[in-house]
Amino acid sequence: MRYLFFLTFALFFLSACTSSEPDVDLIIRNATILDIASGDITEDQMIGIAGDTIQWVRPMEDDGLVASANSFDARGGFVMPGLWDMHVHFRGGDTLVRENRNLLPLFLAYGVTTVRDAGGDITPAVMDWKQQITRGDLVGPTIFTSGPKLDGERPGWPGSIRVVEPGDVDDALDSLESLDVDYVKMYDGSLSAQRYYDLIAEAEARGLKTTGHMPMSASILEGIERGLDGTEHLYYVLKACSPFADSLTAAGMGYGMLPIITETYDPELADSVYGIMADHDVYVTPTMHIGETLARLAEVDHSDDELLAYIGPGIQRTYQGRLRSAIRAAETGNTSRADFVARTKTMLKPMYDAGVPIVAGSDCGPFNSFVYPGLSIHQELQQFVDAGLSPREALETATRTGPVFFGRTDDYGAVAPGKMADLLILERNPLEDISNTRSIQAVVKAGIVRDQPDLDVLLQGVRY
Ligand SMILES: [Zn+2]
Repeated sequence: MRYLFFLTFALFFLSACTSSEPDVDLIIRNATILDIASGDITEDQMIGIAGDTIQWVRPMEDDGLVASANSFDARGGFVMPGLWDMHVHFRGGDTLVRENRNLLPLFLAYGVTTVRDAGGDITPAVMDWKQQITRGDLVGPTIFTSGPKLDGERPGWPGSIRVVEPGDVDDALDSLESLDVDYVKMYDGSLSAQRYYDLIAEAEARGLKTTGHMPMSASILEGIERGLDGTEHLYYVLKACSPFADSLTAAGMGYGMLPIITETYDPELADSVYGIMADHDVYVTPTMHIGETLARLAEVDHSDDELLAYIGPGIQRTYQGRLRSAIRAAETGNTSRADFVARTKTMLKPMYDAGVPIVAGSDCGPFNSFVYPGLSIHQELQQFVDAGLSPREALETATRTGPVFFGRTDDYGAVAPGKMADLLILERNPLEDISNTRSIQAVVKAGIVRDQPDLDVLLQGVRY
């Protein structure tokens, strides 16, 4: 009888202790939470996670009122949303599918919990991974993808959909919609200005987001008028910022105009262009780190790069193309790429200050030499800070602006109840020094926490 009394009492006590909050699977204790929107820092917090979702955030004082199956002690570490790389590629043909898939853990190990695939030629595989990752059957970042790129008669990349005749516009967008892609990526291998405009207008009518390259014969401002949602790299923005853009276009110069538009960048004209872009919410992916890497390819020896160990031999072979063209450019004294990169560094801060939404994207993947999945987004953020953004502003571009582009702010962008439990836990404060994004203590993906030893195991699995 006495035992029964004790048992009843113990059960009552236990349920009283845990009933104040729903059950969670994981509690992260001793967290210092960073609010990237405001720059606010809140120490001594606990984060309760059930499944892949944050259930609650509450002070450590409440410890003892909550219980969970698993617990992780962040030891005062800085907890922020996982990073988004808004421009990556999976490509290189069916023989490289496996090597591309092996890049997925590399992203996670560096705190990248979401990627936006900017088009390639292995769409069925990417779609398959995307679903497997969502189900928890494959370890990797959440994937948003454009599927195949849209290009002209002679596409710049294999696997692209040709848009040549007016009727091709609807056919191409029908194909993308049947593939259930997340947005539309245009490319300028041979796309005409008119089809570029037509694609933007039709995609706008269908509620599809468009971004990508632009034929140098076109005008980004005319694209924006038709509903363009984004632009990759800064060539096309730069073109609009030169007073010579129209005459160079009329002369049919293509990318040959690059040295002239770099030289004749007009800051006042640029401010009006940035104003228009801000008014129309045109998302810019500057891809500055790859710009710098490719500009210096002929002079920097990458053969001892630590991360080459995680890049398969087939993908490493694709690195040779850009290396050869960099060596050719160096031999002929062509500095246009380096000059362009220097120019882009003066464009970022005024663009940001004008209110243009900036997203961090690395352009990593096959063919894009020595720009490594995972690490490269940290290097991109360093570039943004070097170009004048504060660390907080830079962090916004990799945590908050991507979710806005995809209309997913309910799920992403903050450490708060209801958001996905995709988190980065850092030893040091990245708001003080952006390089602290690399001081990774642990990464949480869809509610699963991995500390450094766990992440090392992930990496060992994809080491060549
Ligand atoms: Zn790209």
